[in-house]
Amino acid sequence: SQPIIALDNINVTFHQKKRTINAVKNVSVHIERGDVYGIVGYSGAGKSTLVRVINLLQEPTSGSVVVNDETFFKADTEAGAKTHISAKDLRNRRRKIGMIFQHFNLLNERTVTENVTFALQHSSLSQAQKEAKVKELLALVDLTDRAEQYPSQLSGGQKQRVAIARALANDPEILISDEATSALDPKTTNQILALLKKLNVELGLTIVLITHEMQAVKEIANKVAVMQNGEIIERGSLLEIFAQPTEQLTKEFIETATNIDKAIETISFQPLVQNLKSDEVF
Ligand code: ADP
Repeated sequence: SQPIIALDNINVTFHQKKRTINAVKNVSVHIERGDVYGIVGYSGAGKSTLVRVINLLQEPTSGSVVVNDETFFKADTEAGAKTHISAKDLRNRRRKIGMIFQHFNLLNERTVTENVTFALQHSSLSQAQKEAKVKELLALVDLTDRAEQYPSQLSGGQKQRVAIARALANDPEILISDEATSALDPKTTNQILALLKKLNVELGLTIVLITHEMQAVKEIANKVAVMQNGEIIERGSLLEIFAQPTEQLTKEFIETATNIDKAIETISFQPLVQNLKSDEVF
């Protein structure tokens, strides 16, 4: 089958005053419909830049971007020829690619309901349909009882769930998660990852999961690519990568994931929990 996302020979070069930064170097990656595709790497590896290319928030210097069989962009450095989707079409397509981020990017002066409704401002739905849609989305992320609260009244995990509801408002087939769990504690991280997996399984959502934490990839991804210095240095199914990593960096990332497992096994929370009354826990 055709990949839902096909990035081919992507280069992204930034020119700063005295420096040229090759943030992405000749990367090709094909993501199949229904994949949870983990892209793991340290800070500065080029992960964000690469996924911003998918919806042309970052225009590549060269390469081709095909999403849902539609060519968004194609540029050949040597020939200098560029093909580009129209600005209007691009705006429409972008709404079909949800994004969530580390710092949630919510509007602090607006309620949960208003934050999600905001994503429907260009929708052709009637007012009543929008209200029903927002209710449905808040139920999906289990925030019905927080609908009239403001972001400052919510925990990090709840804020990220608002961001997920907003990202899903226009029924995207693709969700890009850029370090969405990096600001959250381990328990909340697992709740968010479980929600993403549920959306993948129940709605068939294709998820691109960028992270510096191999543990997150291990929890929900079926495929993994490891990025370093603007390149994908290793890739494969989750099983292949964990069973037979070849690159030293991949081994390092795998080691961090297994160490977390071990750490969780060896720590016992029982004494602490027994000393608290249940209503003091939350
Ligand atoms: P990651 O997401 O893996 O942390 P990024 O894609 O954010 O990596 O960054 C890759 C490289 O590109 C870094 O060296 C970063 O400083 C540089 N970079 C990213 N965006 C820009 C930009 N708009 N202008 C200049 N350099 C940038």
